[in-house]
Amino acid sequence: MVTVLAAVILTFLGLAVGSFLNVVIYRVPRGESIASPPSACPHCGHAVRWKDNIPVVSWLVLRGRCRDCQWPIPRRYVLVEVANAAVWWVLAIWAVNTDSLGLLPWLLVLASACVALTIIDLEHFRLPNAIVYPLYPLLLVGLVVSAIVDGEVPWASALIGSGIWLAVIGGIWLLTRGRGMGLGDVKLAPILGATLGWVSVGSALVGLFAAFAVGAIVGVALILRGKAGRKTAVPFGPFLVAGNMLGLILGAVIVDGYLALIGSLL
Ligand SMILES: [Zn+2]
Repeated sequence: MVTVLAAVILTFLGLAVGSFLNVVIYRVPRGESIASPPSACPHCGHAVRWKDNIPVVSWLVLRGRCRDCQWPIPRRYVLVEVANAAVWWVLAIWAVNTDSLGLLPWLLVLASACVALTIIDLEHFRLPNAIVYPLYPLLLVGLVVSAIVDGEVPWASALIGSGIWLAVIGGIWLLTRGRGMGLGDVKLAPILGATLGWVSVGSALVGLFAAFAVGAIVGVALILRGKAGRKTAVPFGPFLVAGNMLGLILGAVIVDGYLALIGSLL
């Protein structure tokens, strides 16, 4: 009963926050306030009625069009809502399975920020400070909550994870003079590295490796399909985010498998 209730709350809250992320994704890169004015149709400017602002349901009821001007609401709005709820589900299942419920609140905050950052980076080629900077104090609060609830205090491992990510991403930024990596990536890296490091240093390493692996695969795929040349700018933020997720979910499995392999060779 408690599990069902938690699942329902997780789903609705995940969709609702996803709906808010749409506001963040649209307004933050334009330097607009996310608090006011209330949501309006970008096309006709009519304020969105509360009954038309229910995640997913309203979009289906309105058949993807503005009630006032019939402007087709981009499918992306619904995708962001569903993606946020889906990522929350993955993280909640991970937290239950690994006995890390204390870390879950921070993971949900970080994941939602990452959903917004991914779309903004793809669209505007930057990771706004207005989203990245607040993650630093939130990270500290999240890790303190995790330490209290889960009873583990791996500060050293979090610092190492953070340092590795900063050194590698910052190093590339320095060496390529900002062409291979943006300053936004450098600012985001320590947060992702610290979060993975809190789980284990191995997870931080796997996550970093995964970010470059996914980046290479997508880069090659884009070139092969003729959608990019070798000099096309591809934002790296989405790959950092993907690496972070993969490091979290697969980190322990890959490190254990690797150690077992080394053990069998010795
Ligand atoms: Zn409209």
